[in-house]
Amino acid sequence: MTDSLSIAQNIEDIRRRIHAAAERSGRPASSITLIAVSKTFSADHVRAALAAGQVDFGENKVQEGLGKAAEIAADGSPQPRWHLIGHLQSNKAKKAAAVFSAIHSVDSVDLVRRIDAAAAAAGTAPDLLIQADLAGESTKFGANPSGIPAIVQSALDCRAARLRGLMVVPPWSDNPEDVRPWFRRLRELRDGLVAAGTPASSLAELSMGMSHDFEAAIEEGSTMVRVGTAIFGKRPKPPGV
Ligand SMILES: *Cc1c(COP(=O)(O)O)cnc(C)c1O
Repeated sequence: MTDSLSIAQNIEDIRRRIHAAAERSGRPASSITLIAVSKTFSADHVRAALAAGQVDFGENKVQEGLGKAAEIAADGSPQPRWHLIGHLQSNKAKKAAAVFSAIHSVDSVDLVRRIDAAAAAAGTAPDLLIQADLAGESTKFGANPSGIPAIVQSALDCRAARLRGLMVVPPWSDNPEDVRPWFRRLRELRDGLVAAGTPASSLAELSMGMSHDFEAAIEEGSTMVRVGTAIFGKRPKPPGV
């Protein structure tokens, strides 16, 4: 069952909180994109959010995203902007470049080249965000900060894809104040790259903040918050977890 009313109300509530957090950080709310993370939820959930004026949607698996995108495409307009926020295996770069408007999980030079070649062939122009593994968590995806300048350079050399910013998934804590230093660190990493010569417009976006900590992320400079649970509710746990 999809409760369209509560999805619409949740989106309204999140937008209000984004507005307040933007005000606290001295920025217009229009500088912050709300990405509704629809992973594990159905196309009907996406339709309910679309009907409430939501445009940007996040998926963490290429195949699941492609399936939902095809279902929604059959409806006609309005159409979502799809963001890939989960790990991208290089053998799926071609599929991802065809459908996703933005790929937040870029973490190697090889992946940049594959996405760009696929985008050029498909005639698309995906936005690229480089995922930083700031905590050095071996279980997590993302690039080590020391490897990021080389990835930035390869992304600046793209013909079709466009470098837009950085993304982080910090170590889990239910307390946003524990997570805040990681948000600050991503902003500082960006500022350092810009000071070293990367065009600021290529690193304008900071994708950081989820349901429980997006307000702290905005206060630290986030321009893209990825919110799932607070919009669609608790995700069903996969079997065996
Ligand atoms: C699932 C997911 C989110 C959304 O998390 P919620 O806590 O449900 O808001 C954000 N970012 C990434 C990378 C995710 O995988």
